[in-house]
Amino acid sequence: MKMKAKSKIRNTMLKFIAKPRMNKVLKLEQNVYNNKNSYKSTAASPERFEILYEMLKLKDENVKLPGFPKTLPIIASSISDIKNTLNLLSENSGHTAKKVNKEFIKELEEYAKSLGVASIGYTKVPRKYIFKDFAIMYDNAIVFTLEMDKDIIETAPSYSTGVMVHKTYNKLGKISMKIAEFLRKNGCDVHAAHPLMGQTLYPALGELAGLGFHGNHGMLITPEFGPRVRIAAVYTNIENLPINLSNKHKWIEEFCSKCKLCEKKCPGKAIFQNPIKNEYGIIKSIDSYKCFKNFSENHGCSICIKVCPFNQVGYEKLYNVYKANNTKD
Ligand code: SF4
Ligand code: SF4
Repeated sequence: MKMKAKSKIRNTMLKFIAKPRMNKVLKLEQNVYNNKNSYKSTAASPERFEILYEMLKLKDENVKLPGFPKTLPIIASSISDIKNTLNLLSENSGHTAKKVNKEFIKELEEYAKSLGVASIGYTKVPRKYIFKDFAIMYDNAIVFTLEMDKDIIETAPSYSTGVMVHKTYNKLGKISMKIAEFLRKNGCDVHAAHPLMGQTLYPALGELAGLGFHGNHGMLITPEFGPRVRIAAVYTNIENLPINLSNKHKWIEEFCSKCKLCEKKCPGKAIFQNPIKNEYGIIKSIDSYKCFKNFSENHGCSICIKVCPFNQVGYEKLYNVYKANNTKD
């Protein structure tokens, strides 16, 4: 089939299948925003980059859905899960606060690990990290990560990478729903958030939860798998989560200031030389539109994840070198 015809089919499917579903999701998200008890964005909040709507703005011949057509059923399943997470909010009991003990947290963590979660942490959600005009039902967050396949990332940018990234989103979304179900069964109120879209700035939440530190490419760099993870969260009315209060991964900032490999290798020239911190302390590392252009034309790209030394060499080895170089005799 000719490229132009293929792109036209892709765009038609986006317009007539994906868009109506997304509109329903946005409506449900709006209901959360309109709920008088929800935690809403502030004037400091960043805008959410709406990939699907940005794709619909492209001319037919420029629409290249990563991993198409394999990703279509996966994306459809993710959109349906996002819708379910929002519909399930009606199952909450409406309790304002809940306390749990250490044994319960241990049980929760063991359950999350059994589902494949790589790391888990806890934080209060600052409202500035909720995307502009969005809201979440509780400001206590359980944040967790899931590894992306190492061998497939090595092939980036590739058709397989585009498919694998969506499979990871989908798997993590289902994990988020299972964790929420576990909590709800134990009498907690929850708002499960999907890694695709999501109402908050996940790398910033992951950092607050102590799961890693943001790299120059804006992604969370974790000790387990560097930036080769996706992030999701469950917001809950549990008031005494073991909230993280410090971050031992801050040294990554200094490492990045000397590395800059992601910036040099980014084919879209989308990564800033130095991340920009605005007056509210929100960090912006990439030009989303420049990244999107390359992302949509090259199977979801992912080169910045691939080349990052925290993916290639690993956290521990880099930390040991950093420590040796920064220890005075
Ligand atoms: S490639 Fe280098 S500069 Fe970019 S995030 Fe990784 S360590 Fe930091
Ligand atoms: S995904 Fe590709 S285009 Fe986007 S920031 Fe990373 S390297 Fe650059």
